[in-house]
Amino acid sequence: MNKYLIFFCFTALSLSAQKKVAITIDDVPNVWIKEKSDSKFLKLLDSLNIPVAIFINEGHLNKTETFAENLTLLENWIRKPYVTTGNHTFNHLHYSESTLENYKEEVIKGEEQTRRLSGKYRKKLEYFRFPFNDLGANSLQHAQILAFLRSKKYINTPFSVESSDWMFNGLYEHYLKKGDVVSARRIADKYVSHTLEQFSFFEKISEELYGRQISHIYLCHDNRLNTDYLSQITNALQNRNYTFVSLKESLKDKIYDSKDHFKGKWGFSWVYRWIKEPAERSRLMKREPSIAEIEKEFEGMR
Ligand SMILES: [Zn+2]
Repeated sequence: MNKYLIFFCFTALSLSAQKKVAITIDDVPNVWIKEKSDSKFLKLLDSLNIPVAIFINEGHLNKTETFAENLTLLENWIRKPYVTTGNHTFNHLHYSESTLENYKEEVIKGEEQTRRLSGKYRKKLEYFRFPFNDLGANSLQHAQILAFLRSKKYINTPFSVESSDWMFNGLYEHYLKKGDVVSARRIADKYVSHTLEQFSFFEKISEELYGRQISHIYLCHDNRLNTDYLSQITNALQNRNYTFVSLKESLKDKIYDSKDHFKGKWGFSWVYRWIKEPAERSRLMKREPSIAEIEKEFEGMR
């Protein structure tokens, strides 16, 4: 084999191994942090220099006494050129436990400041994500709210990978508060390794089901754990040949036009929702890397 051919094969191989992921962050803004005017998470994201989409709960602005400060924090997120904005409802309710009318109000109330600030920074507010990824308890609930979102020109935002970062964060903050840095570190390390395992798992599933790597969408939250450890995850993904793309770019993958066959309320990955047969779906879900020990620890803490 001559050296040009070797070079060609190498390039072709690395191109085919190129993987894409969009990072999405829910429950923004975290108004419970100390450094609101100088958010550590935003500083981290500035340094990572990757696009992110954020899903906002405007109700958070009223959760602490300093509304004006909280609003500035939200604006600091929205003004970042790498940020795409999204509505995550006002109060983060379970849609399956809410009435349609109430939930519509939640969507409308949840976009007031976000729409204004998005406009200020020449951004379009076009993404919506269901809290808990709860699209309703049955097909009627699903259809009703999706029709409403369409009438509001919202895109219902899916995800392919998540790793229960909210649960790890609960434990992480708990141990930090107790001054138990060793346990906090153990939880954080497990979060990083579990997230990377989840990526490996969904890469495998993607290959099995579609014979290729789909463009992924990772769901995580605006919390202390990601402030401290998201960079470890993005670094590792970069080493695995991932490029970080915007939500818009990731959604261009035609896989996201697939039919959602799941009509229940549980908030699992769209990769499972695209599977028609419930038995096949649960067979795959059972193969997912387990965090039973973390779940147990979390329950114990609560
Ligand atoms: Zn949420």
